[in-house]
Amino acid sequence: MNANHYSELVELDKKHFVHPTSSIKQQQEFGPAYIFTEAKGVMVKDIEGKEYIEGMSSLWNVNIGYGREELGEAAMEQIKTMSFSNAFYTFSHEPGIRLAEKLASISPGDLNHIFFTSGGSESNDTAFKLARHYWILKGEPNRKKIIARKQAYHGVATGSTSATGIKQFHTMTNSLAPDFVHTEALSVDALRDTIEAEGPSTIAAFIAEPVMGAGGLFYPPEDYFAGIRNVCDEYGILFITDEVITGFGRTGSLFCMDHYGVVPDMMTFAKGVTSGYFPLGGVMMSEKVFSVLKDKSDGPLFHGFTYSGHPVGCAVALKNLEIIEKEQLVQNAKERGEELLAGFKQIEEEFEHIADIRGKGLLAAFDLFMDRDQKTRFPEKMAPKIMDEAMKRGLICRNITYGESDTVVFSPPLVISSEEISRLLMILRESIQVVL
Ligand code: PLP
Repeated sequence: MNANHYSELVELDKKHFVHPTSSIKQQQEFGPAYIFTEAKGVMVKDIEGKEYIEGMSSLWNVNIGYGREELGEAAMEQIKTMSFSNAFYTFSHEPGIRLAEKLASISPGDLNHIFFTSGGSESNDTAFKLARHYWILKGEPNRKKIIARKQAYHGVATGSTSATGIKQFHTMTNSLAPDFVHTEALSVDALRDTIEAEGPSTIAAFIAEPVMGAGGLFYPPEDYFAGIRNVCDEYGILFITDEVITGFGRTGSLFCMDHYGVVPDMMTFAKGVTSGYFPLGGVMMSEKVFSVLKDKSDGPLFHGFTYSGHPVGCAVALKNLEIIEKEQLVQNAKERGEELLAGFKQIEEEFEHIADIRGKGLLAAFDLFMDRDQKTRFPEKMAPKIMDEAMKRGLICRNITYGESDTVVFSPPLVISSEEISRLLMILRESIQVVL
């Protein structure tokens, strides 16, 4: 690395690059935390040539790992053939048609109808608008409210910020969209109470992540979603699941709702559908939802993004899904995930401050306690210190410290090998040793 080149980039970053979900003050004082330059498989390299094991799949999205040439070839092929075509006014194209059919064939239950977006936030905002539109068409326009959960993360567009239950994301504007309500997480009874308190005939939909991700990696009790489905059915409320993190193999099944055997009315997806090689997301609708749109609406659906169903994104997604299937990456996620959890358990035996190990597939976490039996926390958060030590040693992980949480999270690419899991665990153990 050339020192002048590095300092030039740092200065230009400070001057012009406003980073998402980052402290501007910190950037201005210290420059960017890392400048990454190359990535292949599960390894990432920074500008100084230092290598890291990617323990987070970047933002939980690089499911098939980095640098897969097949995806570049699929994109290039599509760019050469037809670089873009919009999907408004029923204009269509083969990559979009094929991807919609593919997603319908692999999704749970009868989620057979796909509306494409460019990412997770747009997908959730779309699902909220579709839910309200559904009720308008059914003659119940007062059903507007969206119930989401405290600590949920659903993105940063207006609707998805309002559904997000992590308070820090509300402080940017202090003004959430109307008709969004938050209920206690992981409690079926709490949902029932919220519905009763708000008035069942005012509620359009309830949304939940199958595993709460950014809010602290919380897995629900095994019977939670069956209970939620029953309550939604009892009150006639649409049930939306947000599989933006959990979709496409992350938890050791193709979709996380497959574990719970529950089919929602709508399911949102993004991230893993293209493994981050192209920004693409969408909403899957059940026959129940789609048939109302089909039978009761006269004019156009006044909703669509320029890049809804981008042909290059669709071609990339099709190749990505082919790789996930051909290389049995869902099974790999399940098996490597078991190794990761077994490793955490060993670390838990060695270090008295570690507890609450949880995970399915390659989506796993543990928490840090001063006294794990009494569940008392350290006066200052330990997870960021562990993350810093891991980064120094060449391992990317993430910490979550909202409220009580003092959590270390992993979400490595689904292509990770047993040897790479062992290396990840070795660096993690060393990092914990330094901090605790
Ligand atoms: N939903 C969940 C569960 C997420 O984790 C995220 C992003 O992390 C989103 C929605 C928002 O997706 P995007 O950042 O693509 O808008």
